[in-house]
Amino acid sequence: ATPTALMVGTGRGAQLGILIKGPEVLETTRKVDTIVLDKTGTVTTGRMALLAVHTAGGEDEKQVLRLAGALEHASEHPIARAVAAGAAAEAGPLPAPEDFANVPGLGVRGVVEGHAVLVGREKLLGMGVPPGPEPVGGPRGRAITLPPALERAKAQAEAAGRTAIAVAWDGEARAVLEVADAVKETSAEAILRLRALGLTPILLTGDNKAVAESVAREVGIDQVIAEVLPQDKVDVVKKLQAEGRTVAMVGDGVNDAAALAQADLGLAMGTGTDAAIEAGDLTLVRGDLRAAADAIRLSRKTLGTIK
Ligand code: ADP
Ligand code: MG
Repeated sequence: ATPTALMVGTGRGAQLGILIKGPEVLETTRKVDTIVLDKTGTVTTGRMALLAVHTAGGEDEKQVLRLAGALEHASEHPIARAVAAGAAAEAGPLPAPEDFANVPGLGVRGVVEGHAVLVGREKLLGMGVPPGPEPVGGPRGRAITLPPALERAKAQAEAAGRTAIAVAWDGEARAVLEVADAVKETSAEAILRLRALGLTPILLTGDNKAVAESVAREVGIDQVIAEVLPQDKVDVVKKLQAEGRTVAMVGDGVNDAAALAQADLGLAMGTGTDAAIEAGDLTLVRGDLRAAADAIRLSRKTLGTIK
C-alpha cells in the first residue's frame, strides 16, 4: 500500500465519520469475517428508561425507588442513569449512599440510610456479597433469592424484551425494576450491509439471554452470546479467533475495552467511553453502526485500488 492511497482512504473515512488510528488498520479489514457487536449503546441507543416497579409483599414503591435510585445515582451505567432519573422523578431528592461500589456487569451495592442495598442482576444477589465493609442489617455472605412473585415479574419483563433489575436490602429481595432501551434506527440496515460484505454478526452482551435474543431478532442477528461478564468478553473474542476467524468487535463501554483491543479490528462508538475509543483501531464518530460497514467497505476499496 502506498502512503498516498492510504491517506486518501483515511480522508474519505473522516468524511464518513470514521476515524482510523493508522494505515496498518486498513490491511486487517480485508480479512475480517466475523463481527461481534456489543448490545447496550452499540446496537441499542443505551438511553434506557425506567418503565415499571414490581414490589414484593407490601414494600413501599417510593422507598424502593429512593434506596435503589440513591445507589444508581452514583453510577454512570445507562441502566443506572435510567433508574436514578425515574427514582428522582417519583421519589424526590435522593439521599447520598455510603460505601458505594460498582460491580462490573452485575450492578451496584452500597449503604443508603443505614440499609445495605444491592441493585442489579439476580446473580449479584445470589453471590452473597454484602454491601459495605461491615454487614449492615443482614448476615454476611448469604445469597439472596427472588420470591416467586418477583421471579414471575422478572420472567414476564424479559419475555417482553426488557431488562429486569433486582433490588434487595438488608438481606431480602424487595423489588424488580423494568428498564428498556430502544434499538437504534440504523442497526437493522447496518447488519444487512455487514452481511452483504460477507461478515457473520454475533451479538455479545452482559444482559439476559431473553432480552439479548429479542434485540437480535429485531435487527436480524441469529447468533447471541449473552450473560457474559465484562472481563469474559475478551475470552469470547479469543475463542472465535482460535476457531480460525478474523474478528472485528464493535463496542462502546469500559467493559468492551479489552475485547476491542483483542479483536483483529476494534471499532469504538464515538458516542461511547474514552476507554473504548482508546482501545479501538477505528472510531465510528456518530455512533451509527452503518459506519462499521462503511469503514470495512472503504478500507477494502482503498486496498483494492492500490494493489
Ligand atoms: P452490555 O454488555 O449489554 O453493554 P453490561 O455488561 O454493562 O451490558 O451489563 C450487564 C448487565 O448487568 C445489565 O444488563 C444489568 O442487568 C446489569 N447491570 C450492570 N450495571 C448495572 C447497574 N449499574 N445497575 C443495575 N444493573 C446493572
Ligand atoms: Mg455497551
